[in-house]
Amino acid sequence: MLNIVDLRNDFDGSIKKDLYKKLTQRTGTQNGTNTISIVAEIIDNVKQNGDSALKEYTKKFDKAQIETIKVSEEDITAAYKEVAPELLETIKKSKQNIWSFHEKQLQNSWISPKEDGTMLGQLVRPLEKVGLYVPGGTAPLISSVLMTAVPAKVAGVEKLIMCTPPSQDGSINPAILVAAREAGVDEVYRAGGAQAVAAMAYGTETIPSVDKICGPGNVYVATAKRLVFGDCDIDMFAGPSEILVIADSSAVPEYVAADLLSQAEHDILASSVLVTDDVSLLDSVKTEIEKQLLGLKRNEIIEKSLKSYGFGILVDNLEEAIEVSNNIAPEHLELCIKEPMSILGMIKNAGAIFVGNYSPEPLGDYMAGPSHVLPTSGTARFSSPVNVDQFIKKSSLIYYNKQSLEATNNDIVRFAEAELLDAHANAIKVRFNK
Ligand code: NAD
Repeated sequence: MLNIVDLRNDFDGSIKKDLYKKLTQRTGTQNGTNTISIVAEIIDNVKQNGDSALKEYTKKFDKAQIETIKVSEEDITAAYKEVAPELLETIKKSKQNIWSFHEKQLQNSWISPKEDGTMLGQLVRPLEKVGLYVPGGTAPLISSVLMTAVPAKVAGVEKLIMCTPPSQDGSINPAILVAAREAGVDEVYRAGGAQAVAAMAYGTETIPSVDKICGPGNVYVATAKRLVFGDCDIDMFAGPSEILVIADSSAVPEYVAADLLSQAEHDILASSVLVTDDVSLLDSVKTEIEKQLLGLKRNEIIEKSLKSYGFGILVDNLEEAIEVSNNIAPEHLELCIKEPMSILGMIKNAGAIFVGNYSPEPLGDYMAGPSHVLPTSGTARFSSPVNVDQFIKKSSLIYYNKQSLEATNNDIVRFAEAELLDAHANAIKVRFNK
C-alpha cells in the first residue's frame, strides 16, 4: 500500500524534489475549487453575518441544526456524569504531565540596572484572550483540548474560549467538555472548521474575538488560521498529521507499521513515510501494514491517505535518511534505529522527535507531556510546537535619568538629523535647552 520511492539512484535529485513538494503541499481541493478560495468565502460570510452564518455552516458541514452556539453549564455538569471515572483519571494524569513539562518553559520578567542610572528590562505578560480550536470532524480529539489549554493556563492566559464542531445531534462529546473544564477553559462553543476560526478572529454576537487562535485542525481550519493571521495571532500551521520513521535493520516491522497507520487514520490528507536503507525491512513493513489494516475501524481513511501520501523511501545509508527527513521537516519523526541518540545532532527540522522503539508517536499524542500540537506541511523548518512562549508577549522597559540621557543626547540628535526627522531631534534638544 505504500508508494515505493527508490532514492538510491536519484542522481540529479529530481525524484527527491517532487517528493518533498508532494508531501509539503497537501492542501486538497473540492470540485476543482482550491481550499483558499473556499475558506476565504466562509470567513467573509462569518464576518458579515455572524451567528447566522455559523449556524448555516454547522448545518451544511456538520449536519447539525443547532439552536444555541454556547455550551451551557448544565451540559458540562451532565458531561461529568457520562464520562467513565477511569477516563477522567487519565485526563487528569495527562493534564499533570503536560503542566509539569510546560512549567519548565516559564520565563520571568527582568530589569537590569546599570551604574550610570539607566535601567533596561523586559516585562513578560500573558495574552488576555485566547481561542482554542479542537478538532471534532472525524474523531473527538479530547487530548487536543489539554495540549492547547494547559500550556495557555501555565502561561497565565486570563480568558480561554474553545470552539469544536458538534455531532449531528448538536451535542459535544462529553469527554471534550470534561477535558475543557479540567484544563481551565472558560467557554465552549459549538462551531467547527473555517467558520469557527473566523468567529474567534472577528467575533460574532455570541463568540468573542480573541487575541490569538491556537490548535490543530484539518486543511480548512489550518488555511483559515493562515488567512486571519494579522487580524489576530495564530500558533502555527498545524494541519493534517504527518509521521516520518527513520528505520534500520534493528527496527521491528510490526511497530513501524503500527506507528505509520496511527497517523494515516487521522485524515485522507495525512502523510506516513518510512525512510530506510534496508529493503527487507521495507518489505516486512508493507506486509504488516496490510495485515494490521484489516482490524482497524478507520481503514477507509487510512487506505486513501496511504494511497496518496504513504511512502516507503529507500536510501543508501542513515546520513541520506536524515537528509531526506530534514528536507521534509515532518511533524513527528520517529527514530527506530540501533543508536538513535547518536544522530540527534544531525536532526534539523522536526516538530517532535520520538527516540527508539519504545517511544511511539501516540505516547506523545496523549501522555508524555510536550504538546502534540505541532507544525505540519514542512513548517517545522521555522515553527515550534505549541508551548508557553506562544501565550506570552514581552514589553521592553527603558529608564534613563537626566544625566544618562545627556550622555547620549548628541548621538540621538545625530541619528535623527541623518534620518531627516527633526521632531525626533527636537524631543531631545528641548530637554537640554539646545
Ligand atoms: P476538524 O474539526 O479539523 O474539521 C471539521 C470541520 O471541517 C467541519 O466542522 C467543517 O466545518 C469543516 N469542513 C469539512 N469539510 C469541509 C468542506 N468540504 N468545506 C469546508 N469546510 C469543511 O476535524 P477533522 O476533519 O477530523 O480533522 C482533524 C485534523 O486535525 C486532521 O487533519 C488531523 O490530522 C489534524 N491534527 C493535527 C494535529 C497537529 O498538531 N498538526 C494534531 C491533531 C490533529
